[in-house]
Amino acid sequence: MADYKDLWQSLNIDLEKHDQLCEVLPKFYSEIYLSQENRPKGMDYFNMVVSEIHGLRIKELDDHRKQGNKVMGSFCVFVPDELALAANVINVGLCAGSDFWHPDGEKYVPQNTCPLVKAAVGAKMGNTCPYFNSCDLLVGETTCDSKKKAWEILDKETDMYVIDLPQMKREKDYESFSDELKLFKEKLEDLSGNEITANKVKESIELVNEKRKALKRLYDLRKNEALPISGKDALLISQIAFYDDPKRFIQMTNELCDELDQRVSNNESVFSKDTKRILVSGTPMAVPNWKLHHVIESSGGAVVCEETCTGSRYFENYVSNEGETLEEQYKNLANRYMGINCACFTPNNGRVDDIIRLYKEHKADGVVYFTLPFCQTYSTEYKLVKEKLDKEGIPVTMIETGYSLEDAGQLKTRLEAFFEVLENR
Ligand code: SF4
Ligand code: SF4
Repeated sequence: MADYKDLWQSLNIDLEKHDQLCEVLPKFYSEIYLSQENRPKGMDYFNMVVSEIHGLRIKELDDHRKQGNKVMGSFCVFVPDELALAANVINVGLCAGSDFWHPDGEKYVPQNTCPLVKAAVGAKMGNTCPYFNSCDLLVGETTCDSKKKAWEILDKETDMYVIDLPQMKREKDYESFSDELKLFKEKLEDLSGNEITANKVKESIELVNEKRKALKRLYDLRKNEALPISGKDALLISQIAFYDDPKRFIQMTNELCDELDQRVSNNESVFSKDTKRILVSGTPMAVPNWKLHHVIESSGGAVVCEETCTGSRYFENYVSNEGETLEEQYKNLANRYMGINCACFTPNNGRVDDIIRLYKEHKADGVVYFTLPFCQTYSTEYKLVKEKLDKEGIPVTMIETGYSLEDAGQLKTRLEAFFEVLENR
């Protein structure tokens, strides 16, 4: 990586602490990712993005701001990229996926807070993430209680805006979210000084739909008996989708998929035939949280799909581009976003339908239900999901694990036992 110290300093980054983070990541990445055999050539681009994770993209954000434009950061798949792009605001996904940020986070939120929220608060408050410090605005949402309270803490530190997400899916909730999008549009106009017109929204709906199509293409390739790409690599691509330049991301993902198409025609798989095909379902995995996938794929399993926010919930279903007025576009956006089946909704029956559908489409052998510790919505929802999966005869096991690698050995033992059950069915 080139020398970005001056840039980081200009962003008020704690250079000493940040150096510690930069030291561990390459080794960690190399062990988990570069050690894989027979990776597609198209992964070179994504390797480069990781090697430049706090460099090249941060420089692009800086250039964008120097040209008088704005950058915002968000934490959830309910924050619509379409409106940000229409105001020429770059939106970067900020969920933090390492326990490196926990000590700083625990100075502000209780120790028994979900790792994702704790890391996000720590990254901002400790000034150790250049993405947070490149943002002119942070955008939160009222999904879970941990997040709601964290926004109040971050609000003291930075410009913070919160989108009110309804927690039910009645007609009036769709209308309320549509109204909320209008308020968000006004906020973005204030922030950027740019007017958001229906034409601009139309263009950005098209662009974001293209990004969704590229991800869907990648995921569809994982439905083949011969798996052309590992679950770890697919997860990394989804994670990068949250902060890379959308046009470049679409191009590079489609180029990779061309190569994967070729592999599928040649019946070329990165796993042996007896590998157990696993659907992972649950809470999001933010960069660099690759732990569960790594353990699964080094214990006789292959992850064939993620029913998570760093997976299918991020790209499934398109926004209709039929609307000609902003009012129609808010409705179309609300229809697509309110269709996401996050455990913050009650009831949330659509999620289990998604799990069953994806399990079948991806020819999975079993489901690993993943929750981060202290995530009440997802861990409580497990009971209902398990009951329905049992009725369908779909094997499922729940894994609750945080970011620390201490329990990796224990997880491996549990997963190996689960794969043995799958083998003997
Ligand atoms: S799990 Fe729910 S709250 Fe978390 S990122 Fe996904 S949609 Fe947002
Ligand atoms: S993982 Fe659970 S507790 Fe954590 S932010 Fe997401 S919904 Fe909230």
